[in-house]
Amino acid sequence: MRIRATVSSVVQSMTVLVPIFADQLSRRLSSLMNAKKEVTLVLMMEVEDEASNVWHHRRKLVFLFSAMRHFAQELREAGWAVEYVRLNDKANTVSFSGEIKRLAGMHDVERVQVTEPGDWRVDQAMRGIGEELGIPVRIMTDDRFLTTKAEFREWAQGRKQLRMEYFYREKRRQTGLLMDGDNPQGGEWNYDSENRKPAKGDLFMPQPLGFEPDAVTSDVIEMVLERFPDRFGEVSDFRMAVTSTDAGKAAGHFMSCALESFGDYQDAMLEGEAFLYHSILAPYMNAGLLDPLELCRMAETAYREKRAPLNAVEGFIRQIIGWREYVRGIYWLKMPDYLDGNFLDARRPLPEFYWTGATRMNCVSQVVGQTRKHAYSHHIQRLMITGNFALLAGIRPQEVHEWYLAVYADAFDWVEVPNTIGMALFADGGVMASKPYAASASYINRMSDFCGACHYDHGARTSDTACPFNALYWDFLARNREKLENNPRMKMMYRNLDRMDDLDAIRSRAVYVLDGMSRGVI
Ligand code: SF4
Repeated sequence: MRIRATVSSVVQSMTVLVPIFADQLSRRLSSLMNAKKEVTLVLMMEVEDEASNVWHHRRKLVFLFSAMRHFAQELREAGWAVEYVRLNDKANTVSFSGEIKRLAGMHDVERVQVTEPGDWRVDQAMRGIGEELGIPVRIMTDDRFLTTKAEFREWAQGRKQLRMEYFYREKRRQTGLLMDGDNPQGGEWNYDSENRKPAKGDLFMPQPLGFEPDAVTSDVIEMVLERFPDRFGEVSDFRMAVTSTDAGKAAGHFMSCALESFGDYQDAMLEGEAFLYHSILAPYMNAGLLDPLELCRMAETAYREKRAPLNAVEGFIRQIIGWREYVRGIYWLKMPDYLDGNFLDARRPLPEFYWTGATRMNCVSQVVGQTRKHAYSHHIQRLMITGNFALLAGIRPQEVHEWYLAVYADAFDWVEVPNTIGMALFADGGVMASKPYAASASYINRMSDFCGACHYDHGARTSDTACPFNALYWDFLARNREKLENNPRMKMMYRNLDRMDDLDAIRSRAVYVLDGMSRGVI
């Protein structure tokens, strides 16, 4: 496939520069839909500043660069003039702003037209670039989302609490998804209570559809391995979709093979089973290869044709039109200050085992191991294993956020900041979650098979082999009493804490665990 093309002959008369970023790989992008091919130069850029703003997983870099190169080719075949800047190009100025200025200087650009970036930092850069260039910059609404930033602000205005559930119901009414007239299908808006079954190892697990790397992807793999030899993450056996056509096939495979059981086992965790019945479609949606609403319609059709039960389909749709839209709304409502949140004053550094997996805690080791391999773990692994541990141990939220942003293929700033700062770490003081998602080993043991093979005893609190989550859980409550005990949803936990007669021993064990964590012996 020919990626580079000579554009000098066609850009002489071009006046509109349309930059497209790695999370905007959609033919129906507003900046493209409102552009005329004959006067437009599309600009796509692989730049070091973005590849290294955090320590991005190599599989994520391969996925995004390869998807970008394929999308550039698709646009060329559709008649667009595209300037594609590769990471290793000598003239590459390493930043989006630098490249836009360089290309605007090379061509007779009268205007920059861009769909609003998904990252606050890049959005700021785009807003500042017009003045630097002395030409107008038109920033267009990203209408791939159901809710604009202004609409979310309006929804949030005057509300005491910004709970996802109420926002989600509005999205159901707005889209008509799973509606029966004015009422929710089946009589309930939310079937989450049916979606908490633990899984057993003998269940049949469908695997996500994989795709052999083509020549473009193979080139990108070579480049990433050469350029980032010390980066976290494996790229061997790369089988992600890198085009919208293949991502569509992966979506169809999920709908026919896994959606049926997705709801039941949504929160379950099994050793050696990274995917269970999850869709693994978030990277494709977030990069722009799949249309979120179209996926919801596919799932709804599966329900109406009796190929998937209501709890599965409602759960899937809620993740997309509810949770996904809601976290984006929170991000744009609260940035940039949101990122600095540290309500619980957590100050410990991120333990090394988040990168190496070298810990005797089997649950953490398993999740880090599969993250290194696949650039993926599912939401409960993120929230209740790595997130829960970071919360209980008091790890600095910004370091945890950077880790999540780096290691997951679906992680973009707008997704990761609210999920980490708000949901996992309660660092926003309760803007998103009504209470911290803190849990001891009993939750992990109930929802997974990790504890059976662990060095630690999930039932013990103070012994030498007592599970670290247990001591940290009670210590977390005691340590943060002043900030949390008046939360109505925490009252029961504090009543339990006050009934404990071995709290001193538990807190001593917590000191040992926290000290051992920094010495790498936990
Ligand atoms: Fe994790 Fe504790 Fe269970 Fe080990 S015993 S797997 S550390 S929850």
